[in-house]
Amino acid sequence: MSSRKPFIAGNWKMNHTMGEAQAFMEAVKGKLPDASKVETAIAAPALFLAPMNYLRQGETLKLAAENVYFENSGAFTGEISPVMLADLGIEYAIIGHSERREYFHETNEDINKKAKALFAAGVTPILCCGETLETFEAGKTAEWVSGQIEAGLAGLTAEQVSNLVIAYEPIWAIGTGKTATAEIADETCGVVRSVVEKLYGKAVSEAVRIQYGGSVKPETVEELMAKENIDGALVGGASLEAASFLALLEIY
Ligand code: PGA
Repeated sequence: MSSRKPFIAGNWKMNHTMGEAQAFMEAVKGKLPDASKVETAIAAPALFLAPMNYLRQGETLKLAAENVYFENSGAFTGEISPVMLADLGIEYAIIGHSERREYFHETNEDINKKAKALFAAGVTPILCCGETLETFEAGKTAEWVSGQIEAGLAGLTAEQVSNLVIAYEPIWAIGTGKTATAEIADETCGVVRSVVEKLYGKAVSEAVRIQYGGSVKPETVEELMAKENIDGALVGGASLEAASFLALLEIY
């Protein structure tokens, strides 16, 4: 626990129909915790963001894209741009999720360009990092994650990084039911914070929010959130149903 405001974000990935998304929005209406205690968001498929933006009127729920391209407009069939998100009032965009790195071959360089384009448009990136089981077992997590963060942040200003959200998601814990222990999660979030400190100084490293992600459940969230370096969670499976998403927020 720290003075940074906790931030619990759902990541729906490629799940739900619009009807299910609407039912979710109706079910959480009036039930979200006090926004002065915790920030909440849902990252949804791009197709749902405009209607969800309408459905959330009067609620404190923030919205996030699950991905974005780094150009603002042009001949990039199939992509959505930072200015399109900003124009709708979408607050966040996840970049560099391990599934995008693995299945869609996103590189650190792409992710860095996305971070810059998002900040330029006024949308806050949620920059993901995380290691494979092989890297974890080889004891190379700190080195790997530090490299991802350094490359992801290249050229960003101190002010931008102060406002950034970073999500540490060990790949071996995503969708596997295998949460990293709170100690491991805290330790690696601490590594991420120390990289930010090395690059931008203490004040920025104390401002940046670092989420943990990977099989976070209502039963595990409290212990994780109590840790010094963990400022929130990026939650896949347990964010899909409104009841489960609300259960994640019960501690606030
Ligand atoms: P999970 O997904 O909570 O289902 O493990 C987390 C994520 O990939 O963001």
